[in-house]
Amino acid sequence: MSIVIIGGGPAGLMAAQRLAEAGHRVQLFEAQATVGRKFLVAGHGGFNLSNSDELAGFASRYGAEQPRFAELLSHFSPDDLRAWAADLGIETFVGTSGRIFPVAAHKPADLLRAWLGRLRALGVEIFTRHRWLGFAGAAGLRLRDENSGPGTGREFVIKPTATVLALGGASWAKTGSDGAWVPLVQEIGVPVVPFAPANCGAEIAWSEFFREKVGRVPLKNIALRVNDGPAVRGELLLTEYGVEGTPVYALTPAVRAALSAGGPAVLHLNLKPDLPPAALLQKLRQPRGKASFADFLKRTLHLAAPVPTLLRELRPDCANLNAEALAGLLTALPIPVSGLRPLDEAISTAGGISFSAVDEHLMLRQRPGTYVAGEMLDWEAPTGGYLLQGCFSTGAWVARGIAEGLG
Ligand SMILES: Cc1cc2nc3c(=O)[nH]c(=O)nc-3n(C[C@H](O)[C@H](O)[C@H](O)COP(=O)(O)OP(=O)(O)OC[C@H]3O[C@@H](n4cnc5c(N)ncnc54)[C@H](O)[C@@H]3O)c2cc1C
Repeated sequence: MSIVIIGGGPAGLMAAQRLAEAGHRVQLFEAQATVGRKFLVAGHGGFNLSNSDELAGFASRYGAEQPRFAELLSHFSPDDLRAWAADLGIETFVGTSGRIFPVAAHKPADLLRAWLGRLRALGVEIFTRHRWLGFAGAAGLRLRDENSGPGTGREFVIKPTATVLALGGASWAKTGSDGAWVPLVQEIGVPVVPFAPANCGAEIAWSEFFREKVGRVPLKNIALRVNDGPAVRGELLLTEYGVEGTPVYALTPAVRAALSAGGPAVLHLNLKPDLPPAALLQKLRQPRGKASFADFLKRTLHLAAPVPTLLRELRPDCANLNAEALAGLLTALPIPVSGLRPLDEAISTAGGISFSAVDEHLMLRQRPGTYVAGEMLDWEAPTGGYLLQGCFSTGAWVARGIAEGLG
């Protein structure tokens, strides 16, 4: 009796570990030459494994799926994740932002290496360069050994006791998460919500002058909102194609909703979120004298380059505004969004297998014995550790469902 996991990302590897620990024979098939490629990519830009949010707040990050994630997170919580990492010899710490990171001495590759060592010790068999091609009858899985080259090789069918599909979303295709699995599950009638970019940059139609002059530069300590929505704090990155950064990523769902409703998606940038409105106004009422607009902003509000250029780009007459109008502009600078960056660039994807297609154990209703974990399910969450935690928690959850079902 063996359990088969398809996909060697964090969700699949966690399911494999939990099932092997419960005494099951586990075989994991991964299409790429190595497992955990996106996991390693996640490590390049900070590598937040999870977040120290209290559980109710944590679950609310999964939007419409909050109740389900509240249950998943209480089964495998951020504390469990930290204990799991510590058990692999990787200590973690909570950063000032609340994000949970491995301590500096540990690189993502160290964590993955230790994890794979543990899986080997538990007897998990990992077959890389093995691509899942679809279902075969009521109980089988079609696989191809691609060790001789992508798209070629011996095809075979296996009939596991239970299967976990953990094939990821549809961004960063070079890591293996290419979304090519969609027709394979649609074939048996599983509803899949179309993919859309999540946690990605927004495109702005900057002038050529602005693109050349400003390039890529951060704006620290700002607040950003979409239309009349709630504001998000953080650091904004101006780029040649638009804006990036944590607040933009957090607002992707709102931008996407506004754009798909055909309406305008306008970001409102507050450059001075910590200054009370009266204090801001008082500073702007100071006489400007002979100082240029840029010097005045720098002297009174410490707003240096590229802020004056940004203001002129979006409001050419900004230097001539009175104090009240300028205060309004500095606290709600409208930036019209023309689109979102392409799917493949996104940190994560919205869409995937609809939750209506799975039961409370994340088992496909159409195919008893086949479970789904990780980003291939239709959920989204902001950056800050919520993505990996969601993948780990769904991986642990399906392992529990299978172990209970077999037990
Ligand atoms: C730039 C970047 C930075 C990120 N930073 C963070 C971060 O700091 N914190 C955080 O929480 N999250 C972060 N993430 C997100 C996180 O990496 C993903 O959410 C997570 O890796 C998804 O895990 P998964 O197991 O669901 O899928 P994946 O990691 O995508 O794994 C799916 C696996 O399935 C394999 N596969 C696909 N199709 C087949 C097939 N037909 N047969 C066999 N195998 C197949 C793929 O090759 C892949 O190895 C980041 C992502 C990116 C791109």
